[in-house]
Amino acid sequence: MKREISEQLFAEAKGYFPGGVSSPVRAFKSVKGTPLFIKKGNGSQIWDEDDNQFTDFCCSWGPLILGHNNDTIREHIIATVAHGTSFGTPTRWENKLGQLILDNNRFIEKLRFVSSGTEAVMSAIRLARGVTGKDKIVKFDGCYHGHVDSLLVQAGSGLATFGVSSSAGVPASFVRDTLVLPLDDLNILEETFKAQAEDIACVIIEPVPANNGLLLQRKEYLMGLRELCTKYDVLLIFDEVISGFRVGAEGAAGYYNIQPDIITYGKIVGGGMPVGAYGASKEIMGHVTPDGNVYQAGTLSGNPIAMAAGYAALSQCLEEGFYDKMEQKTQRFVTKLQAHCDTKGYPVTIPTIGSIFWIAFTQKVIRKADQIDPASMDKFKAIHCELLDNGIYLGPSGYEVGFISAAHTEAELEAAAILICAALDIAHA
Ligand SMILES: *Cc1c(COP(=O)(O)O)cnc(C)c1O
Repeated sequence: MKREISEQLFAEAKGYFPGGVSSPVRAFKSVKGTPLFIKKGNGSQIWDEDDNQFTDFCCSWGPLILGHNNDTIREHIIATVAHGTSFGTPTRWENKLGQLILDNNRFIEKLRFVSSGTEAVMSAIRLARGVTGKDKIVKFDGCYHGHVDSLLVQAGSGLATFGVSSSAGVPASFVRDTLVLPLDDLNILEETFKAQAEDIACVIIEPVPANNGLLLQRKEYLMGLRELCTKYDVLLIFDEVISGFRVGAEGAAGYYNIQPDIITYGKIVGGGMPVGAYGASKEIMGHVTPDGNVYQAGTLSGNPIAMAAGYAALSQCLEEGFYDKMEQKTQRFVTKLQAHCDTKGYPVTIPTIGSIFWIAFTQKVIRKADQIDPASMDKFKAIHCELLDNGIYLGPSGYEVGFISAAHTEAELEAAAILICAALDIAHA
């Protein structure tokens, strides 16, 4: 496969940006080769600068549930941009997207638009602290919530609740206020609450942890988490930046039928434009400025072009049967891969929910971050490299999940499944 142009552009980019990229995972550090510079996408397909074509399972890391260059989204963007790009005032498009979301979601009553998932999470944490008057927060090892200072904390060795920062530049005082617990363990959570609940503002969780493999949680665990938060007067934040509008119109809250106190959104909500949102009951959202005293603002928040794109995307997701079709299509695809691995006796499991899947190089059910064997990532490296050469684009890390879009046809998925099975054969040879 020709890579000259991508390689040359990447060499140039390294002179401009740290690691040559605007977001670290794009740099291909955990796989072989250099990043591909993509110039075009249509449906499930993308093309790089060297004119290689790929079936895309990264889908811009999740936002593109309708695939690339969706007609309706593109038309909404073009029609809106013809009237200007930004006014810094309320616009009709905000109302339209806000109403569409709230009318189709039983779990939030009001929301605020921001410009990224990170911003949504950062604001939700501030809101939880503002509402409760408490400072500490609980997060789980294996959940990612964007690059928010207080959430760039990972489990330390020894005592579960003492975290260490996972990035330089995070003040030690922030780390002290973040408790990191393992997923799938209500006992440790309750012990933590017993000791410190009067200092804990909120628990934040990805109800569908999909940033460190796909660590599907038991419904009983999530329900237990909800009960304990209620019992100990701690707010529960569902970070649905990935799962929102992905596992169903009401995200994971609807999928599991669990009422969190605050929900964050991003990715799909903007239809491929930079949008995030956080929502809650009227009462909790009443604490946000200007109604309340939790300050949060944004120059480009509720940007009309982004709102129009989000509206066009969600309108299509809300069509009858959309999520059932997505799930069935994904199931058929995953079943083919799993059957191949089972027949050949490969230690591979492919967890899936909605239109998300993950290739785990183990036969064990994985629910916690520390159950992933880092050595298994060598197998991912091997299939990633092989698949790129054969026109299949997976996100460049074995810890990343794959996404299927509405634009992936049965024929494309069938063809991709054959190539992935062949790559798995090579990785296990
Ligand atoms: C992607 C993601 C974020 C961060 O969103 P950005 O738009 O990248 O800032 C936060 N939380 C979860 C669960 C995510 O998947």
